[in-house]
Amino acid sequence: MTTDGLPDLRREPHPSPTPPETRERILADPVFGTVFTDHMFQMTWTEGRGWHDAVVKPYGPLTLSPAAAVLHYAQEIFEGLKAYRHQDGGIGLFRAEANAHRLNLSADRMAMPHLPEEWFLESIRELLAADGDWVPSQDEATLYLRPYMIASEAFLGVRPAKEYTYLLIASPAAAYFKGGPKPLTLWVSEEYNRAGPGGTGAAKAGGNYAASLLPQSEAIEHGCDQVIFLDAVEYKYVDELGGMNLFFVYENEQVLYTPELGTILAGITRDAIMTLAAEAGWEVRETKYSIDRWRDDAEAGVLTEAFACGTAAVITPVGTVKRRDGAFTIGGGEAGKFTMQLRQTLLDLQYGRTEDTHGWVTKL
Ligand code: PMP
Repeated sequence: MTTDGLPDLRREPHPSPTPPETRERILADPVFGTVFTDHMFQMTWTEGRGWHDAVVKPYGPLTLSPAAAVLHYAQEIFEGLKAYRHQDGGIGLFRAEANAHRLNLSADRMAMPHLPEEWFLESIRELLAADGDWVPSQDEATLYLRPYMIASEAFLGVRPAKEYTYLLIASPAAAYFKGGPKPLTLWVSEEYNRAGPGGTGAAKAGGNYAASLLPQSEAIEHGCDQVIFLDAVEYKYVDELGGMNLFFVYENEQVLYTPELGTILAGITRDAIMTLAAEAGWEVRETKYSIDRWRDDAEAGVLTEAFACGTAAVITPVGTVKRRDGAFTIGGGEAGKFTMQLRQTLLDLQYGRTEDTHGWVTKL
């Protein structure tokens, strides 16, 4: 679909934006998800009319009917990506087209309208044209971008809404792990599931995250950082974490395993890793991978490393896995060499420190 510029675009600059000294103080040590930039982007979709009334305006509360469908039936989808400060002082995005595409896949599953991919990118350009100074420059800090779409029609019937609102907000984020990543301790949820066949697990929909909160709390109660979800049919195969995908490293065979797509989110980091590993001569197998195999191969020492990946944490080693009947460690619980090298390769691409041979980087 080709589209001209954003429909009816208006730019309403903030009358009293954050003073530069205050902004610099916030950017020096931002607490993720608590502070937002001066502006937000908003656009409305109405049945029969399509997208209209694009606006960049001061960040602030929404006007929403208490009957808005999203508040009752959770018709909501979102994306998460980062704006990176490059060495030349410019701003770069990493695989933003993939986020635009995935938003529309989520829209399909949740019976919501598509947002033309170029408008997704335009909305980011517009917000960063206003708030580009909020992209931090210290090591591994970023401006986290949160595009999302909600059913804003005021109607209590259970059917796809006839009005939607697309929004984009941005929040500065420090390095996820200060002083480098610490190997994760993970808890296997053997009671709760995140997604089943035919369900919404492959969509980035808010409801999936609501369902993950109780098992995540259980993980914390067991002294773990994150929860591992298993498949919902046999409770045997590893799906993913609450917000990250998983990889298993067999160094001697130069093989990387990762759970196949279906009920998991098709992570954009996961996809990039598969490409980079294949280019480095590794065989990548997307397949069912059981929790028992993980334990047995880790204990036998043939599985040398395991790591989690996603936009937020980039690539993070997994040190220990706990389940009801015991725990096991991978590679002695230490960060593995392959994992840390891959992490550096990815960061170098994201921050524009190495040549973008894949066309993954959008310079703004
Ligand atoms: N799985 C889930 C459930 C997630 O929420 C995320 C974060 N978006 C990921 C995996 C990783 O996806 P990505 O690499 O696109 O951030």
